[in-house]
Amino acid sequence: MRKIAVMTSGGDAPGMNAAVRAVVRSGLHYGFEVYGVYDGYEGLTNGKIRKLERGDVGGIISSGGTVLGSARFPEFKEIEVRKRAVKQLKDLGIEGLVVIGGDGTYRGAQALTKMGINCVGLPGTIDNDISSTDYTIGFFTALQTIVESIDKLRDTSLSHQRCSVVEVMGRHCGDLALYAGISAGSEFIITPETKYNRELTMTAIKQSHNNGRRHALVVVTENMLNVLDFAKDIEKTTGYETRATILGHVQRGGNPVGFDRVLATEMGEYAVELLKDYKGGRAVGLKGMDLVDYDINYALNKKREIPNKRYGLVGRLS
Ligand code: ADP
Repeated sequence: MRKIAVMTSGGDAPGMNAAVRAVVRSGLHYGFEVYGVYDGYEGLTNGKIRKLERGDVGGIISSGGTVLGSARFPEFKEIEVRKRAVKQLKDLGIEGLVVIGGDGTYRGAQALTKMGINCVGLPGTIDNDISSTDYTIGFFTALQTIVESIDKLRDTSLSHQRCSVVEVMGRHCGDLALYAGISAGSEFIITPETKYNRELTMTAIKQSHNNGRRHALVVVTENMLNVLDFAKDIEKTTGYETRATILGHVQRGGNPVGFDRVLATEMGEYAVELLKDYKGGRAVGLKGMDLVDYDINYALNKKREIPNKRYGLVGRLS
């Protein structure tokens, strides 16, 4: 019987479980034996691999995080370490591996494919920073969490006539800030794509204050600036009482929204179909309404398209 395995790696994202479930059930449907690898590439190297049955993935479609666990394991960049992982798979007769994670995870999959294990990458990250897909598994759930949090902040900020600065995740990608900024009607966003222009930002906030708005909102991608200092600067420069909120890891958790479950399920099944046809070294993505797959080398080098028109929306309607 042909054997495949599934693994989650890198930062966890809501919807990873739905993808694991789809790989397992679709694999069984096509007559594979399906194995789960625990704790990412660390578990793969150290043989934390277990056969999964249909019931093992029951009831997980609705839960956040990953039941397989995840890990950061930089040692996997070393060939000797990867050889141990390949041996673990070969000893069990596993010929193909579905990896769910971000681009670091894809690099591991690329390296493993070169060593004779057919790997298929599924984009699982809240950051939406994978250029070979329109949307990643987990992005819309994190967005929903952010929007709900900002809605709550707005209630209190409105009452006190405050400016709110909200830091969101995204690593080096501004999509969470962009989509949250539009959804919450923010005055301004600061992302790796927009960069930080102090004068422009202060002018927009002052203008909003002068227009008599009782509340202003600035959404900032992590790693752009120190939002606590930034809030003090706004207060001093504009006279607008300002509070900074760092949303942090709550953005990673929670039950996946419907869209992430659908995307994860479709992608999981698609990955199994690729492996069924002995296709490896592929990255699955969403393009418009359709799923596509790319050579993983191409996927890793593809330039990310910046949604300029969407950026133009921020602030204009606030
Ligand atoms: P993400 O997949 O979310 O981008 P990381 O960048 O932490 O998260 O990558 C996840 C894991 O993938 C790393 O901990 C490491 O085990 C593996 N990995 C990352 N880069 C490489 C690489 N160049 N070669 C082999 N494995 C890698």
